[in-house]
Amino acid sequence: MADFKNKFSWSKSRDGIFNECERKYFYNYYGSWGGWKDDADRRVRQIYVLKNLSSRHMWLGSIVHEYVGFLLGRLRHGHEADLYTLLGNLRRAMKQDFENSEKGLYTKYPKLSGRQYGLFEHEYNIFVSNDEWKEIFDRAENCVTNLFNSDLLQYIKSINVADWMPIESLQNFDFEGTPVWVQIDFALKDRDKIVLFDWKTGKVRYDEMDVQLSCYGLYSHQKWDVAPENIVCKKYNLRIDKVDDYEINDEVVEKVKVHMRDSIASMKKLLTDEENNIAKEEDFKVTEDDKICRSCNFKKICPKWD
Ligand code: SF4
Repeated sequence: MADFKNKFSWSKSRDGIFNECERKYFYNYYGSWGGWKDDADRRVRQIYVLKNLSSRHMWLGSIVHEYVGFLLGRLRHGHEADLYTLLGNLRRAMKQDFENSEKGLYTKYPKLSGRQYGLFEHEYNIFVSNDEWKEIFDRAENCVTNLFNSDLLQYIKSINVADWMPIESLQNFDFEGTPVWVQIDFALKDRDKIVLFDWKTGKVRYDEMDVQLSCYGLYSHQKWDVAPENIVCKKYNLRIDKVDDYEINDEVVEKVKVHMRDSIASMKKLLTDEENNIAKEEDFKVTEDDKICRSCNFKKICPKWD
């Protein structure tokens, strides 16, 4: 396989990590690079394994997204979906993930497709009671059940599948020469509007909303040639079966563009070689906020905790 290059890009989550801790950002986007290779340096490999860990809450979010995607995929291809079969498969998949993580398979195969999750709680021996684990399993089932029985799903089904937009798993657009990654969960065309869907299994972070919606707007404009006023975003909270509608407006998009420009410039300023996107670990400061460290995947290798 040809060696591919670590190219600079931007995303809301990259920006979030950069603002939390520069060193954590370094490990995520530079220190872990190449860790998938068989001949990777030991430390690079370890950083890569740690990067791919998920907390139990992130795992819950990913698996619910996976099964919602699976449900919509069936409907898109004209098949009915049966809730009990879906929940049975979901529970089996979670059980498998959990067991694989407990056995530490992720240290061998940190990012294979299939059920190779590494849970942060297992890697760091964090005590989680059986009741708390059970709650994660139950919550995942409730989320999928809520969507299955929701008015929102009825609305989606009422739109002809020919108007469901193709959603690639990786979506990016160009922002002034920088690729920007977005994650749109689902989209459809309803008369003159594009309706975007965002599945939520945790708390909605209102402070990040403008950035997320503006990126959706910029992506939709480039990809589908739709003006911001014709885009509606539905955030569906699967835990409580609640939909919130948001519109995207030009003024906010302009403000977010300024934020993106500043964020990209700050990230690039720390590079030793901007053209080749090369960074040195010691140029990235560790955070002084221990609260951020508590849930950081890299505590094991971070010099702050030596
Ligand atoms: S442990 Fe703390 S200082 Fe170290 S990378 Fe993580 S967040 Fe940053």
